[in-house]
Amino acid sequence: MAEAGAPIGILGGTFDPIHYGHLRLAEEAADQCRLERVLLVPAALPNLRAAPGTPAQHRAAMARLAAAGNARLEVDDRELRREGTSYTVDTLAELRCELGAARALCLILGADAFMRLPAWSRWLELFDLCHVVVAARPGYDLTLEAAREPDIARQWQRRKLGEIQQLQRAPAGAIARIDIPLLEISATDLRARMSRGASVEYLLPHAVVDYIAAHRLYRL
Ligand code: ATP
Repeated sequence: MAEAGAPIGILGGTFDPIHYGHLRLAEEAADQCRLERVLLVPAALPNLRAAPGTPAQHRAAMARLAAAGNARLEVDDRELRREGTSYTVDTLAELRCELGAARALCLILGADAFMRLPAWSRWLELFDLCHVVVAARPGYDLTLEAAREPDIARQWQRRKLGEIQQLQRAPAGAIARIDIPLLEISATDLRARMSRGASVEYLLPHAVVDYIAAHRLYRL
């Protein structure tokens, strides 16, 4: 595998706005899975939720500010350049073509996103294209909830890794769990705080707070 290069992480989201829950998740995945870098991929029009309230160029600009200064983080805006609904499977297929068949790709998901995977377009094809790396999130008991959802439980049993280092041995197909510090931060809560004029400082990078204020987003 050495010649294929270290694995690449992909963290998609609406990032409306990006916050320390996302950033810590990316950083933990990079460390624990020994990723070369993590691509932050803002979604234009997500398939399974309402269109984000904030224009895509602002969400991408905030993600760029958040990633600045971290050599392992990079914003990939391909979904914003593509027409129509953003399907992760299309993004992964493009990356697979660009990075070659041998490179390990790791799709990084919080527990809430992982539990919703069976609703994603062509979700089983994802395992042909990448590994899935999943982390807990406050309010979601991963083990319990994965067992409750039969489609997830089946894939989990079939694909779960004992040792995270095994991710490097194949380009795709495994599910790995990482432990991260639980941060009770969500973009929904941040938007609610800002709309009532409450502070969001220390829940997301200061540069992002400044950007939000300068562009009068979320009525901050
Ligand atoms: P919203 O509240 O608008 O739904 P969000 O905070 O959940 O937004 P998304 O952009 O939907 O953020 O999330 C992108 C990815 O980051 C998902 O895989 C999600 O599970 C993960 N994630 C977001 N916040 C956290 C957190 N605090 N801890 C762990 N994972 C998180």
